[in-house]
Amino acid sequence: MLIGIDDTDSPQGMCTTYLGAVLARQLIREHMQVREARLVRLNPNVTFKTRGNAAVMLDVEGNPDRAFAIACALVEDLADFSCENTNPGVVVVKEQVDPAFYLQAVTDFCEIDDAVALLDATGARYRGWKNRRGLIGATAAVASSLPDRTSEILVYREPARFGTPRDVDRTSLFAAETATFPHTWDTVDVANDVVVCVPHTPDPVLFGIRGESPRWVMTARQMVQSERPGIEQIWVTNQGTDAHLIDANISELREGLSYRVWWTVADIPKTGTGGHVSFTIRNSDHTVRCMAYEPTKNFRQIVRQLVPGDEMIVCGSFKKGSINLEKMKSVSLATDQTIRPPACTACSKRMTSDGKGKGWKCKRCGARADAPDIEEIPRMLAPGWYEVPPTARRHLAKPLCRGLPPY
Ligand code: ATP
Repeated sequence: MLIGIDDTDSPQGMCTTYLGAVLARQLIREHMQVREARLVRLNPNVTFKTRGNAAVMLDVEGNPDRAFAIACALVEDLADFSCENTNPGVVVVKEQVDPAFYLQAVTDFCEIDDAVALLDATGARYRGWKNRRGLIGATAAVASSLPDRTSEILVYREPARFGTPRDVDRTSLFAAETATFPHTWDTVDVANDVVVCVPHTPDPVLFGIRGESPRWVMTARQMVQSERPGIEQIWVTNQGTDAHLIDANISELREGLSYRVWWTVADIPKTGTGGHVSFTIRNSDHTVRCMAYEPTKNFRQIVRQLVPGDEMIVCGSFKKGSINLEKMKSVSLATDQTIRPPACTACSKRMTSDGKGKGWKCKRCGARADAPDIEEIPRMLAPGWYEVPPTARRHLAKPLCRGLPPY
């Protein structure tokens, strides 16, 4: 059977993955076999999410009625029902539900009624609490099919320490990254000297290591020194796979969806208040703004080097009329040039314009010229892919260390 769970946490505590890890242990104690623990991230632009829009799925061999009863009891015990935005859902199905529902949940928006209709049609056992929104994520989890998958080991805290400051040795995290990158990623952000894998919220997670396989995340995990941990779970995930991106034309962009588009830079990037950098891209008649916000740090230095005419592939979510950049490829670079009034060949002074279409004239000696001085500025940017740093990376965004996209 597949067990899906979502929406058990709140900003004040809990985490659906922790509940999933506890459930796996309870089922094992009941002599059931847990074949896979899966963590799926869904549309990152869903406003109801607490943090990373995660849902979990356990693939289990055992009695479905018993497993469903245990899962529901655990949700009642651990979920943070006090939060208005916590609306848990538990689903148990005999086999995978139509993956189209997962695809919609990861790239688009879903309705609670559609999840319920699908569950009814497949004869699922399910329960939704409060407004039952968690049934969306729980259904998506049991509908998930992952053509590309990564691993994450989540190390949880001892329950007595929940809500207290975390103690994870910084040096050991940097050493783990050095020893295992690029097979693991986003443990730390070396360029910005920041630890990325230790949350700052009061949830049960102590730290998490992401990587290509259970073996690699475990290798890195074993190097990390910390307070005494509680339980640990290796998850199969869709993190770092770009599962949220859709190929689209500029005229098709919809609010809250994430895209990969091939367009041309239309203006010179500007740095606005707060250090956010913006520029416009165009495709025939349409234009759209791209944003590299301040938290994307050094990535903004790359963006500032774009010039009109550069051919680009940009990836990111379309929100409030802008694409928020996750990564981009400069496919081909336009010529960058400065155009200045010509210098007088006799007295070396810059000439002044004699009016539109009338050429230039030297004020001192009266010499004339028809064409301006056009000077090519060497481009410092190399064609290729560029991405935001680990501190600014979204869970679903595929890091370039996993291999360059095939376009
Ligand atoms: P955490 O990751 O820390 O466990 P969270 O960020 O996953 O928390 P949730 O508390 O699970 O956030 O809230 C997300 C809610 O949005 C859930 O009820 C889930 O069912 C719902 N949801 C997820 N994806 C979609 C979608 N594509 N369309 C509509 N609702 C969605």
